[in-house]
Amino acid sequence: MRAAVLYGQEDVRIEEIPEPILRAGEVLVRVAVAPTCGTDLKVWLRGGHARMLKPPTLFGHEFAGVIAAVADDISLWQVGDRVVANNSAPCFNCFYCRKQRFSLCEGLIFNNGTFAESIRLPAQIVKHNLLKVPSELPLTLAALTEPLACCLHGVAASDVGRGDTVLVIGDGAIGLMLVAACADRGAQVFLCGGQESRLALGTRLGAMATVNYHRTPELVQTLRKHGSDGRGLDIVIEATGQPSVWETAIACARPGATVTLFGGCPRGTQVAVDTENLHYNELTLKGVFHNTPQHVREALALLASRRFPFEVLLTEALPLDKLPDALAQMRDRQAVKVAIRP
Ligand SMILES: [Zn+2]
Ligand SMILES: [Zn+2]
Repeated sequence: MRAAVLYGQEDVRIEEIPEPILRAGEVLVRVAVAPTCGTDLKVWLRGGHARMLKPPTLFGHEFAGVIAAVADDISLWQVGDRVVANNSAPCFNCFYCRKQRFSLCEGLIFNNGTFAESIRLPAQIVKHNLLKVPSELPLTLAALTEPLACCLHGVAASDVGRGDTVLVIGDGAIGLMLVAACADRGAQVFLCGGQESRLALGTRLGAMATVNYHRTPELVQTLRKHGSDGRGLDIVIEATGQPSVWETAIACARPGATVTLFGGCPRGTQVAVDTENLHYNELTLKGVFHNTPQHVREALALLASRRFPFEVLLTEALPLDKLPDALAQMRDRQAVKVAIRP
């Protein structure tokens, strides 16, 4: 089969590799759509991932497709089923899983290699995070389940409720999905970003107003005005992964607010937190990482509801050969996400 193999920095090649051989509990899925994402871009620019991916390696982690083969011991799944799988699954057995903190699972396994004609799903993912796609939902939309599940996890951790004023900072695919996830809970959502075309997508996904930071000299003061009676925001969610923006997010919060620091910053970086602000204003600062099986299911249900036009996030569709072009478009911020069709 054909697959994208990452060799190093900005070096990905489409190669012929052997079809995976299934072991007990595993399923082989023919990939219909594999969207690119910000993590893929980082992996491509850096030539790997410190924990997950050492080149040469298969990569890509978002997809939907059709089951092409199942291991002998599989009875719940059949060849031809339209499916989406999360890129990970917890063990349901460890200290954190017993506390329902599945994203902290000590036995969390990840699966990569969606930029390929087919992908083998490990038994743990087949067991806990493989879902059937409703027949009326296009696979292209179902393929957004994993990133949307991360957003739903973040929004649940932020305890977003009806009427809350929420500021999302960051106009990448994740920031835009966070807007929809908050709007879906009845919040008044504001989006801050740097690109007009993406801010316009934010409006389509439920933002009440947007702020372009390039055009806003007094940024924090301007953003704080969107809070109830100008006090600052009830909830702020940061989705850029830059330490300076984490600090901006904290500065926009009203007393008693929750600030969710969603975007992962480069390793070893730190932020400064004003102790007086944190203490006297009783701020809650939350880190969130990845998703949980429950949010994977909720994400697929939200996509299937068609309440939001999530298809606007997929700027373009390209064949597997064009993956390097797709990643270059992401780097140059010409595309939010590209749907790779192997
Ligand atoms: Zn992703
Ligand atoms: Zn676990």
